[in-house]
Amino acid sequence: MNYCFLILAIFINFACAQTPKAQHQMIIRPGEVRWVEFPLEKDDSKFICRDFEVKFVKKGNLGQAFVMESYFSDLSPYRCRVESQGKIFHEIQFIVKDKEYLAEKLKVDPKKIKLDPKSEKRVIQEQLVLDKIYSSSPAEFLFKESFITPMTSVVTSIYGTKRVYNKQKKGQHLGIDYRAAIGDKVPAANGGRIVLADDLFFTGWTVIIDHGLDIFTVYGHLSKTLVNKGDIIKRGDLIGLSGNTGRTSGPHLHWGTKVQGQYIDGFVLIEESKKYFNN
Ligand SMILES: [Zn+2]
Repeated sequence: MNYCFLILAIFINFACAQTPKAQHQMIIRPGEVRWVEFPLEKDDSKFICRDFEVKFVKKGNLGQAFVMESYFSDLSPYRCRVESQGKIFHEIQFIVKDKEYLAEKLKVDPKKIKLDPKSEKRVIQEQLVLDKIYSSSPAEFLFKESFITPMTSVVTSIYGTKRVYNKQKKGQHLGIDYRAAIGDKVPAANGGRIVLADDLFFTGWTVIIDHGLDIFTVYGHLSKTLVNKGDIIKRGDLIGLSGNTGRTSGPHLHWGTKVQGQYIDGFVLIEESKKYFNN
């Protein structure tokens, strides 16, 4: 009899600990982000998606965050949970739907495809610098408005395009390319802190802005940078001039958007950010 009670007690305890108070469902696709809000009942709440702790901001008794889906997603559904000391208070269920991306062929300088040992060393060193930058974003918004497109010219290559370079190397274009001449003005897509203004092997003269909450925007192939590391900028501030530096097949602006360590579609971030910031 006591034994039965024990089993029942364990079962009830287990069921209570595992059953969230509330739940809702969202749809996301590879390379996209979603703006989410969730109730915060405890001050020490964590927001965890696929075992990754997602940074969020507190607004009253709400938590607010962007959730991203990697371009390389295996499409499996998952739950993001709001938890405190092992107890789950809220869950958001994500259904991942597939997304078809286009393909294109490109011709670039062969030296930027097959790297010589010196270039390879340079790329590795640059990656270490970038890794450090991408792991030090604050858990607060460094912007007060929605994201905007950095250029209004024709988009020559959209996010996610599958690429074949010089008929041999395959890759994906995880950014947006805008038609631009050498010297066109490049404004910031949103407010933030400049965390890099330097010459990189692949993206040439590059500016990276940290917007907080592990959200970064990258501006590549510039002919000139007009900001310095540490500068605080507002949406629309001029950060550089477009150009043809790094691995390119002609002058253009490459705009990359990195959220929680993955390049996602900047146009989706613009739309999702409008759901919260209506300016
Ligand atoms: Zn590009």
